[in-house]
This record gives sequence, C-alpha cells and structure tokens, in this order.
Amino acid sequence: RNFKRQMECRSDIERLNAPFLAIYESLIPAEEEKTKQKQLLTSLEKLVNKEWPKAQLFLYGSCANSFGVSRSDVDVCLAIDDTETSKSEILLKLADILQSDNLQNVQALTRARVPIVKLMDPVTGISCDICINNVLAVVNTKLLRDYAQIDARLQQLAFIVKHWAKTRGVNETYRGTLSSYAYVIMCIHFLQRRKPAILPCLQGMETTYAVTVDDIECSYFDRVENLRNFGSQNKESIAQLVWAFFDYWAYRHDYANAVISVRTGSIIRKHEKDWTRRIGNDRHLICIEDPFEISHDLGRVVDKYSIKVLREEFERAANIMQYDPDPCAMLFEPY
Ligand code: ATP
Ligand code: MG
Repeated sequence: RNFKRQMECRSDIERLNAPFLAIYESLIPAEEEKTKQKQLLTSLEKLVNKEWPKAQLFLYGSCANSFGVSRSDVDVCLAIDDTETSKSEILLKLADILQSDNLQNVQALTRARVPIVKLMDPVTGISCDICINNVLAVVNTKLLRDYAQIDARLQQLAFIVKHWAKTRGVNETYRGTLSSYAYVIMCIHFLQRRKPAILPCLQGMETTYAVTVDDIECSYFDRVENLRNFGSQNKESIAQLVWAFFDYWAYRHDYANAVISVRTGSIIRKHEKDWTRRIGNDRHLICIEDPFEISHDLGRVVDKYSIKVLREEFERAANIMQYDPDPCAMLFEPY
C-alpha cells in the first residue's frame, strides 16, 4: 500500500478553509472555562498548603499547553520536596484531604503507570487528575505552549487532528492508539518539515531556557515572541495542511525505518536509536521521539493490531480529504 501514492491536492481545496476554521473555533474553550480552572487550582492550592506549606501546584497537559479543546480535564502536578514519604502515601494523604473538602469522586490510583488522584469539583463540574513531581510533563507542556505562539496554524491543525482522533476512536492509549500529546508532537514535526518551514526547531537554536529534570537536560530557545514571522514565507492554508498531514501519515511516512524527531526537526533512523526490534512491550511500529526523554517512543503503545487500525484511519482521512465532496462531515463521523 506504500506504493499507492496520491498525486496532487484536489483543485477545490481552498473552499474547505472556512468550514475547517469554523470547526477549530467551535473547539476553543470559552474564557469562562479558563477562569473556572484557575479558581479550582487556587482552592486546591489552599488545601494542599495546609498540609504541605512548601508544596506547589502546576498545571500541565492540555489546559496549559494551548492545545486544550473545551471541556477538557485539568491536569495538575503537585511538586513536593518530601523524600521521607513514598508517592503512594502522599497520594493517599492527598485523597483524604480532598475528600474531606467536599470534592467528589475522589480516587487515588496508586498503581497506575503515572499514579494520580482523580477528582471532580461539584462547583465547576471540572474533572481533574493530580500527579506528584512529574516535572518533565510540566516542561514539555511549556515547550508545546511555546511552539503554539509561533504560528497560528499549529493550534488550528492540532485541534482538528485531535478532534478527528477522538471522534474516530484513535486517541486511546489503553487500546493501543496514540495520546493527544503524541498527536501534537506529530503536528509540530509536520510543520517543521514544510517547505518553507512553518515552525523552527527550538531545541536546535541558542539556549535561552534550561532545566535539568531527573538527569535529563531540557534546553531550548524560548524567546518565541521574536519568532512571530517565522512561517510567513509559507502561505499554505489550513485546508492544505490538513490534507498534507493525512497524506503524509497515510502514504509518505516510512514506517519501517523512520523516527520523527521534533528535537532535531528532522527524520532520524530507527537504527540510530536501536529501535529496530521489539524489546519487552515496545514494538516501535510508529516511532515518535519524545523531545526530552529521547529514549521514549511515544508510539510504543501501538501494537500489531492497533497499527493497522491507525494506518487505515490515516488512509481513510487522506482519501476523504482528496475525494469526498463534503470532507468536514465525513472526516469527523463517529466510528
Ligand atoms: P487531552 O486534551 O486529550 O486531555 P492532553 O494534552 O492533556 O490532551 P494527555 O495525552 O492526556 O494530553 O497528556 C497530558 C500531558 O502529560 C501531556 O501534555 C504531556 O505533558 C504529558 N504526557 C502525556 N503522555 C506522555 C508521554 N507518553 N510521555 C511524556 N509525557 C507525556
Ligand atoms: Mg489532559
């Protein structure tokens, strides 16, 4: 199927801009929602600081990375400098505190891959996950937010891709498809590779921001206000980009050998990373390098069944973008 390459983009592609932009706009969260999230964070901070005066709370994930659609859950990281107490004990203690403050459905998931406390705030209706000391997630949230400042087309493309993935059922890591985070990384990489480029490679530029987290050095150029015109040589519209994104993942990506890398702004080889064979549960069937944790393949959740599902969905989307008279309706048709 790799030989079946599409040629040129349909000639009426530009008429799809308005409907895609309308979908994008309908997904943007209302200001009111942001205010409620801040309120929730403030009240959580008060509760937490009664028990741990020095602890801090950080938002991460889609409520802080500019890729959150409306009614997303809030991801919170509790940064706490307590080497005496185990993570599980902290989580259980935290769950206790939250429970006695009328928050609903409080649950400590101490055995999850990323242990969290889940809760629902009855006042705002917002659901929230709190993890402990997941500083890397806070840093990659900043990287994504910084990329989003450079060119508006990133946020538009990522909202459309995330919306597509959710409605088509391919945004479910527990079923072997990709996380929202992985889809945003795919969008950033795709825009870095356009000709002319729409996004730069921030980690390849002069360092203006650096932190070390769990022995991983995270550094990049974060003065993105100086890069607002970066992509202006490239005039591609959102409809063209959505078309090209699915065309790439359906027909052009070299699944056998290639790793996409936002860190380098290029494609690297599986060989270079020793991602050529299955090790444990990591199969490397679609390779997406994490920008900071470079031994981490964001595609590692994908197995031999879900890779088929995923590639068929990319092909379906590419074909709809190429041939369907009403792509906006078909693309987001629930599966
Ligand atoms: P959604 O709107 O679907 O909730 P999200 O951006 O919150 O999207 P998640 O996939 O739930 O996406 O991830 C939340 C955050 O956790 C990400 O922004 C990222 O910081 C971190 N994260 C998620 N998955 C990974 C991963 N595999 N490796 C490293 N960090 C991850
Ligand atoms: Mg989230």
